[in-house]
Amino acid sequence: MSRWLLVENGDLISGTGSEPSPRTSVLVKDDTIHAVGEGASQAVVPDGDQLQRIDARGRTVMPGLIDAHCHMSYGEARSEEEIDLYTSHELRTLKAAWNLQKVLAAGVTSVSDPGGSYYIGVGLREAVKAGVVRGPRVHAAGRYLTTSNGLTDWYPDSVGVPQGSIGILTNSADAMVNEVRHQVKNGVDFIKVADSPSGSYQAFTDEEMRRIAEMAHQLGKAVTIHARGPSEVRAAVSAGFDWIMHGNYMGDEVVEHLAQSHIPLVPTLLLLANACDWGERFGVPSLLRDRWRRMLESTTQSLHKAHAAGVVFATGTDSGFSITPYGEWHARELELLVKYAGLTPLEAITAATQNAATMVGLGGRLGTIQPGMLADVLIVRGNPATDIRVLQDRRNIQTVIKDGLPVTFDERVLAFRWPHSRGLTYSTSDLTYDSVYGSPAHETRADLAPTKSEMDDVVHELRSLESKAESPDDELNESGLDSDKET
Ligand SMILES: [Zn+2]
Repeated sequence: MSRWLLVENGDLISGTGSEPSPRTSVLVKDDTIHAVGEGASQAVVPDGDQLQRIDARGRTVMPGLIDAHCHMSYGEARSEEEIDLYTSHELRTLKAAWNLQKVLAAGVTSVSDPGGSYYIGVGLREAVKAGVVRGPRVHAAGRYLTTSNGLTDWYPDSVGVPQGSIGILTNSADAMVNEVRHQVKNGVDFIKVADSPSGSYQAFTDEEMRRIAEMAHQLGKAVTIHARGPSEVRAAVSAGFDWIMHGNYMGDEVVEHLAQSHIPLVPTLLLLANACDWGERFGVPSLLRDRWRRMLESTTQSLHKAHAAGVVFATGTDSGFSITPYGEWHARELELLVKYAGLTPLEAITAATQNAATMVGLGGRLGTIQPGMLADVLIVRGNPATDIRVLQDRRNIQTVIKDGLPVTFDERVLAFRWPHSRGLTYSTSDLTYDSVYGSPAHETRADLAPTKSEMDDVVHELRSLESKAESPDDELNESGLDSDKET
């Protein structure tokens, strides 16, 4: 016996890039799209099989969104230290499982998790697959492979890259290959490589990238890279990586190289744009905002060139930070691709559906509404082909169908905000004599922009809004016991 679902008379956006087709029905059999259009409305369901009908008249029917860059283990962190150090992996896992439901309610039916701590992503994938956790299907990497010059070796060597970090230090090709073997043994779907933080140099050699890709592919896994600068994009393309993330500073030559290779690009603009557009209100330090604003300007040129050269785009958001919380902004990436890369709304929808299926290992099997495809379907109020922003308001996502089943959500889960995990911060600026009593020198200084070191202190400023956050360490902090450590 099969389970049938008929979504009737919606305005269909197929995800293939073709124009919307009005009043089109979609018939789903079990977890697969069985027929679309006349074939769907005229199909005869065998006697005894269950048929559910949903009237989608006046609504848009489209594929479930895919977020190809969503870090489920970050826990909406306000600092790198929170991501790497402050939350136990047991709690990180529980939080992530809870947060998955928020992502699904936003219409995101699949995520690619390009790196996080421990093997939390792998665990989430299995829990969703088994139906224990309600969430999008998860395609997961493990800890990022980094070098001492890569993204995730943040701390002094005396600290190193701790076990709970999202990265693992691999400073030689042999160490990299060794780590690939371990991660594959532990169940990852793909390998994440972390090149330089801002793209100012290449942190892995060409040969190291080649060795990583070779071993990952030999073991049947994909490989991707955080690559903002031109040289690491070029090297990763030459090494045959499966997709590239960011690409903020690509010149003509690199764009051409990327376009020729047909390797897709996941620009991941949301984190930068959220910080630049609204960060001031939410305590994002001005130095970071300024740096990212300049990066966005260069990115605009880089991405427009890539679009003109025919590079395939897919959507990713870097959700998981405090300024990119789960379930809130995934669909904003589509608007940002329109704004910063020159895609049409329909092209942006294709980037978030058909194109992003590659990053969840389901290219050709997911991301379009066509017979034979997995039945991840959204019923949406409004027309995203004319106003791409309608997808951002969760109230417009009326029905989420995943694997052929309409999902029900727990409002308590959706409304809950996890408290900030902790950080022992004494103040957000320096209490000097002059700042209390004033002095000519202080008044002069106050007229100037804050010093670089003040502006650079990301941790302090990020925590300026945390006074109401609960923390397991609150009591300890209040008693002053913990303060001995730091004074
Ligand atoms: Zn990321």
